[in-house]
Amino acid sequence: MAEEWERLLSQSITKPEQILGKFKVDIEGLRAVTAVYPMRVSKYYFDLIEEVDDPIWKQCIPSPLELQDPYGLDDPLNEEGQSPVPGLIHRYPDRVLMAASNSCATYCRFCTRKRRIGRPESELSRAVIAEQIRYVEENPSIRDVIISGGDPLMLSDDEIERILKRLRAIPHVEILRIGSRMPATLPQRVTPKLVRMLKRYHPLYFNVHFNHPREITEESERACGLLADAGIPLGNQSVLLRGVNDDPAVMKDLVQRLLRIRVRPYYLFQMDLVKGAHHFRTDVEAGIKIMEALVGHTSGLAVPRYVIDAPGGGGKIPVQPEYVLKIEGDRLILRNYKGETYSYPRAPQMAGAIESRSPIGKRAGCR
Ligand SMILES: *Cc1c(COP(=O)(O)O)cnc(C)c1O
Ligand code: SF4
Repeated sequence: MAEEWERLLSQSITKPEQILGKFKVDIEGLRAVTAVYPMRVSKYYFDLIEEVDDPIWKQCIPSPLELQDPYGLDDPLNEEGQSPVPGLIHRYPDRVLMAASNSCATYCRFCTRKRRIGRPESELSRAVIAEQIRYVEENPSIRDVIISGGDPLMLSDDEIERILKRLRAIPHVEILRIGSRMPATLPQRVTPKLVRMLKRYHPLYFNVHFNHPREITEESERACGLLADAGIPLGNQSVLLRGVNDDPAVMKDLVQRLLRIRVRPYYLFQMDLVKGAHHFRTDVEAGIKIMEALVGHTSGLAVPRYVIDAPGGGGKIPVQPEYVLKIEGDRLILRNYKGETYSYPRAPQMAGAIESRSPIGKRAGCR
């Protein structure tokens, strides 16, 4: 029997014509886009759109610009080259990312895996998933497995449990993580039944993906609350998107709302060089400005780490505003979040400097 979320999913918007039911726009040219990059918008997510081209619209409604991208690459992070078995990316020494599904409740137009998401020919069979798990079994250096996709919550509870159970049986696998955008795009997927199953596989971490404060609704709050009540730590991964969240005020609102629904901001990603998504890219300076507006200005818990995923698969590289202005002999010249400068003595001279007028010296001790 189909579950409620499956029924909701079957009502998704998958054809440009369906947009016309709510918005009178020109859909000429969109069919050519969806022939290359499929469209799916859950009814729930579609209903979050308030007007044409708003931050929700931009994320999910196809744009003719997707076919006019001379810069992007199909696989900017060389994921295929770092996949020893299909759908399993082994980039870092002690952890892997395995795609358990190739579809999602809503296809984000900026997706890094745009090259394959939503294409039936890329769907991962049970046999392929078994091959991925076998790879983990045979590689004792892997202590952390991220189950991602696509969206792994597109699978049935039973399929997810089959995967978790097999991974849990591997002695060297210490932690499991799930990466899913369902709490933002189809929160009804997070059911008490799903969560009761998930909590049997601790230590289990869950990363969600919210990009804009308007994605945080009563329904998404309920979904995250259920997961948090099951002792599952929740992190958020946002992508920095032009015209969506490349504004310090919007991002501050987002991260503060995330904490209110018990989700800890984890990463803010610079947009990858994905083909078909060039129109979403911002300067790196936009991200640095956002970090500047967060660090010190709001709860440290609310501050994600801003990273660039190195082209070609070099991994995530943190990019920070600069707080160490210079090193002058035995002192560091620092600035705080308000732009005030401080001179900080380096370790060998510490004892004598503690009594100095330095503001750092005055508050030496536990923070
Ligand atoms: C992001 C990512 C991970 C996990 O990175 P963390 O920094 O540990 O969260 C692992 N593998 C791949 C391929 C990734 O892209
Ligand atoms: S939910 Fe994730 S994998 Fe799916 S389309 Fe969006 S960004 Fe891509």
